[in-house]
Amino acid sequence: MPVLTRLIPSPVVVDVSRGAMDDLAGLLADQRISASGKLAIAISGGSGVALRAKLEPVLPHADWYAVVDGTIDSAVKLADDIKGRRYDAVVGLGGGKIIDVAKYAAARVGLPMVAVATNLSHDGICSPVSILDNDNGRGSYGVPTPIAMVIDLDVIKEAPVRFIRAGIGDAISNISAIADWELSHKITGEPVDGLAAAMARTAGESVLRHPGGCGDDEFLTVLSEALVLSGIAMSISGDSRPSSGACHEISHAFDLLHPGRSALHGEQVGIGAAFAMHLRGAAEQSGLFVEVLRRHGLPVGPEEIGFSVDEFVAAVEYAPQTRPGRFTILEHLNLSAAEIRDAYADYVKTIRS
Ligand SMILES: [Zn+2]
Repeated sequence: MPVLTRLIPSPVVVDVSRGAMDDLAGLLADQRISASGKLAIAISGGSGVALRAKLEPVLPHADWYAVVDGTIDSAVKLADDIKGRRYDAVVGLGGGKIIDVAKYAAARVGLPMVAVATNLSHDGICSPVSILDNDNGRGSYGVPTPIAMVIDLDVIKEAPVRFIRAGIGDAISNISAIADWELSHKITGEPVDGLAAAMARTAGESVLRHPGGCGDDEFLTVLSEALVLSGIAMSISGDSRPSSGACHEISHAFDLLHPGRSALHGEQVGIGAAFAMHLRGAAEQSGLFVEVLRRHGLPVGPEEIGFSVDEFVAAVEYAPQTRPGRFTILEHLNLSAAEIRDAYADYVKTIRS
């Protein structure tokens, strides 16, 4: 009989609040992550400059490292630069790219990583995965979950609203991803981790059903927490299954077939999720997705992000190849191009009605 419950890799502190960044030094000292304040802080060359000017006076013992891009080379360079300099932790202060680079570099030198997100565009801010560009396109690397997660709502509001909207698309796509997981359980016998599914689904539902918008603190708090919980759900399941299904395969297909033309990840997975719900015959759910995406100013069809219907059909057809071994509604239905075209025509009718 098991007597021990399982332990979940998770941050020791999650702070989502207005002005959270101003007290970064105090928070790291209180939590015994860094008593001396000796930190390696990774920032971008762009928006990072202003953040550095703001934070430098309260973090006098920190060293600042400008990260030029989200490549594995940049992550390895950061690791080499900080190695052997006796830091307490690596802080990734920025958007997704900076956080992913910092996560990887911290893992490489064996230091804890503190994520300070300056936008909410996707659920990678607190996940055990670092997504980096490499010679073959883009790779996902397993890394430890951040030891602390800080989201300053005042800073989030300064980012372009498009980045908040994208996070909404990524959060609500969890619901479609869980439907794929449950379908796979039924058809292929793949085990579903009930706790990971509960966390990811609740995160998605809380954003889907929240009446607020991108400008209000209550909504931004719920969205931030949903993205954090999605990351922890991935730590629990050990892969991206709770947050990534057909919705993400379709988005990856856009990225691979049309490099350089992609919209934001969250914009693409939002469309993918609404279309996947439609394919499942979940008309009410698909309609609700479309309604919520529209209410927040997100696209609901490929043309709104600069892709033709033909390109969409080709992306959906190619999608299963982006994630071999993952069973979703796309693998289950195994639609031909003509059938995808018909299904899309149907989807368009429902979103216009
Ligand atoms: Zn995602």
